[in-house]
Amino acid sequence: MTLFDKIWDAHVVTQIKGGRQVLYIDRHFIHEVTSPQAFSGLKTRNIPLYRKEKITATADHNVPTKNQHLPITEPLSKKQVNTLLQNCKDFDIPCYGLGHEKQGIVHVIGPELGITRPGMTIVCGDSHTSTHGAFGCIAFGIGTSQVEQVMASQCLILNKPKTMRITVNGALQKGVTSKDIVLYIISKLTAAGGTGHFIEFAGDTIQNLSMEARMTICNMSIEMGARGGMIAPDQKTFDYIKGREFAPKGIDFENAVAHWKTLKSEDGAIFDTEHSFEASDISPMLTYGTNPGMGIKIEDSIPDTNNKKALDYMGFSAGESLIGKRIEHVFIGSCTNSRIEDLRQVADFVKGKSKAQHITAMIVPGSKKVEKQAKEEGLDKIFEAAGFELREPGCSACLGMNEDKIPEGEYCVSTSNRNFEGRQGPGARTILASPLTAAAVAVEGQIVDIRKFLSN
Ligand code: SF4
Repeated sequence: MTLFDKIWDAHVVTQIKGGRQVLYIDRHFIHEVTSPQAFSGLKTRNIPLYRKEKITATADHNVPTKNQHLPITEPLSKKQVNTLLQNCKDFDIPCYGLGHEKQGIVHVIGPELGITRPGMTIVCGDSHTSTHGAFGCIAFGIGTSQVEQVMASQCLILNKPKTMRITVNGALQKGVTSKDIVLYIISKLTAAGGTGHFIEFAGDTIQNLSMEARMTICNMSIEMGARGGMIAPDQKTFDYIKGREFAPKGIDFENAVAHWKTLKSEDGAIFDTEHSFEASDISPMLTYGTNPGMGIKIEDSIPDTNNKKALDYMGFSAGESLIGKRIEHVFIGSCTNSRIEDLRQVADFVKGKSKAQHITAMIVPGSKKVEKQAKEEGLDKIFEAAGFELREPGCSACLGMNEDKIPEGEYCVSTSNRNFEGRQGPGARTILASPLTAAAVAVEGQIVDIRKFLSN
């Protein structure tokens, strides 16, 4: 059996005629965007929550990242966040609203609080729920009506996806991070390459990554059309979870680890699809178009893919290099790259340097805990000295749903996960990259190969 099969089959409640299955859900994360309709559906039909203790609520998408102690000024954001707070009050669910010490991006707080653990089924009304798969669990995004189903029954009716294994072996070049690995894979397999599949990432390159770097990989698995991504748990996973607030303690933890150690694909397990890559082939990556599959190694030129619409939107032409392109904004944040390790990496690089004068450089921690830790480690001082602005936690410029938007026609090198038209605001031009590349771009004010700084 594959890791995926083991977890999935252990959660099947019953088979339904026609091949679909009823799957039990261990944990349901909710936020302000996809929960209001679900709550009102329950209220209208007078249906109680089936297991309210399985729900974790946080405000992230609509929150401002400045002056969080003040009332939200943007009317829609204010309404969304207040509705979440009211619904959680009405249904007696703890909610990590603005100012709460556990508030943050839903996919950042789950792992950091020890709620996300191997072998679980996890859902959230947000595509990037796949992030949690880094802990060896089945985690995937669901739609609003499914949010309501899970609230009412703790189950979902689903077709079992196909399985895919992506193996990466070998040592990475200097300056190449997990973000580059996943952008490289998506550029090779395309934005539809994982459609219908659940992906297991394997190989020694993946095993050698930290938990935070593994989260970046699983986070972006859905950008190749997959239902989700996962990585088999190992000692790094157990060490990461141990001692976290909601993790099992004492003998319960030991028993849990004994079970978690069984969660891996067996030798000879059959996957519907397999791909493998060599780590040494991967360079720092950038996207040049309007989906995450439109990516290139930084030293390559934009290919002629006949996608004139995307290139026109981005203001690029086939055959040109991105190196040297003037950039106006750098955004370091989102559930892909806003963890303490990302911030440390950026701080290490920018220490003693300054951002280019014309550029805005914004760093948005993924959670209150990340923000606190960054300050305790003095990273805030490094960012300030380099001219970077450290904001308060939230989804921020990952999507144009709050106050942090990129102006029309301007370029933003972003550590987020989507470069769709208008994703960071109407007309905004997004170039996806790693935190390290984004930091180097902020310093130079233009696109630059991070390896230039690391050769010595
Ligand atoms: S940071 Fe972006 S991708 Fe992640 S949950 Fe927020 S809006 Fe979604």
